[in-house]
Amino acid sequence: MIEPSVQPTLQIAVIGSGPSGCYIADILSKKLPSVQIDLFERLPTPFGLVRAGVAPDHQITKQITRQLDRTLQLPNVRFIGHVEIGQNLSYDELKQHYHLVIAATGALQDRQLGIPGESLQGDQSSGVNRSGVNITGVYGSGAFACWYNAHPDQAELAPHLGRRVAIIGNGNVALDIVRILAKSPAEMASSDIDPTAEQTIRAAGIEEIYLIGRRGPLQASFTPMELKEIGELEQCAVCLDKSQLPDTVPEEADPKDRIRQQKNLDLLHEFASRETSSKPVRLHLLFQQTPVRLKSDQGRLSALELKKTVLTNGHPTDEPESPVSELPLDTLISAIGYRSVAIQGMPFDEKRGIISNLDGRVEPGVYTLGWSQHGPQGVIPNSRVDAMTVAKKIMSDLQHHPVTAPVEGFDAISALLEQRGVRPLSYADWQKIDAAETARATAGKPREKFRRLDQLIAAAK
Ligand code: NAP
Repeated sequence: MIEPSVQPTLQIAVIGSGPSGCYIADILSKKLPSVQIDLFERLPTPFGLVRAGVAPDHQITKQITRQLDRTLQLPNVRFIGHVEIGQNLSYDELKQHYHLVIAATGALQDRQLGIPGESLQGDQSSGVNRSGVNITGVYGSGAFACWYNAHPDQAELAPHLGRRVAIIGNGNVALDIVRILAKSPAEMASSDIDPTAEQTIRAAGIEEIYLIGRRGPLQASFTPMELKEIGELEQCAVCLDKSQLPDTVPEEADPKDRIRQQKNLDLLHEFASRETSSKPVRLHLLFQQTPVRLKSDQGRLSALELKKTVLTNGHPTDEPESPVSELPLDTLISAIGYRSVAIQGMPFDEKRGIISNLDGRVEPGVYTLGWSQHGPQGVIPNSRVDAMTVAKKIMSDLQHHPVTAPVEGFDAISALLEQRGVRPLSYADWQKIDAAETARATAGKPREKFRRLDQLIAAAK
């Protein structure tokens, strides 16, 4: 049961209980003198990206949930799980019943490559992997990561994995996927990867992984710590042709990128200098290669056509003379960034795939922060910085335009949900799910997640 409010002054609805939602709730619950913050989450479980995006072998990063969990236990913060804004409640209803609405909805949709052959219907514009328009063997990193992280949206994904896998993109998400595909059972022993996903990956017998960047090693956005990890895998050898690497970082490089670029370059040179290895999996790093077409055979991926890119001031440009090369493939995963999901009625910038906003302000009384504000950049600690920045704006706006009229907050919302037959899940319900997942974990694992909604809801009862 979710307890009713105790006469709060300011009623705030936060949409999304990932790091950004939890951080803004934490800050405002402590800074504002009298406030009730209701944290709406469409899943039965909190923590967004930390639960379903952070790689399952990065358990140290996932420990941030302890801090986020403390926010959910604050007396003036209420977790309202399994309620989707735009489905179970409208944006207008939230605006009507709360003084402030803050969207921290992240970026859940995969961007598409937009090249011929990517989808069966020939539709490259919709970009929604959730609807499964891609040909068999082609996945977005968001859908793929949700699948191995047991996110209910991808419980039925069942990706087709074969011996030869290409990953497009040179960011940290691409490296996450390399590790998850290439790590040995011993290396995954303390992870919370979904067991079905792990079995599927093992059964695929992956031998060749191609990590493909459209720009060069200096323009890659992955970070040295993550790059170093892929050079230390037990069963996977890095294969890299030294001719792809510059000797040094040029003098004119942007000073803010220079240290990272130099560390990456040193690591890549060290990888290129290694002796041939007999490890069963080979990771080929290919730079300055742009995907131009996907080929399929009876609806199943068969090859990727690539074209060499030329860099002009670091930006890729077409090289009309360069020949197209063909890479036979069984599976392709594009790790090229994400878009936010629009909430019906809330201003949305379709081009950028974010909620329309000016420095976090959407419209009077409505704010956004994190990846739904500025797109998918930055690591989890950046969400706290974002939250502090937007919290300052909210405090300043409240000083200039104090709220006076009372609103009903959760009292009105719970009546609406009841009318619609929607039973929200509370923090206590989440604790039951958490305990059940922890209890069913096999030795050495932190938890075994429930991957289907009906299992999560049953565990909450
Ligand atoms: P990202 O760092 O922006 O990398 C996206 C990659 O996709 C870039 O290499 C980009 O190349 C490439 N790309 C974009 N469009 C493309 C296209 N049409 N064709 C070919 N390549 C294309 O994004 P991300 O890897 O999704 O990561 C998102 C954020 O999460 C980042 O801030 C990242 O650091 C963070 N993260 C951190 C960790 C960690 O700390 N361990 C783990 C995962 C994610 P261009 O540069 O040429 O555009």
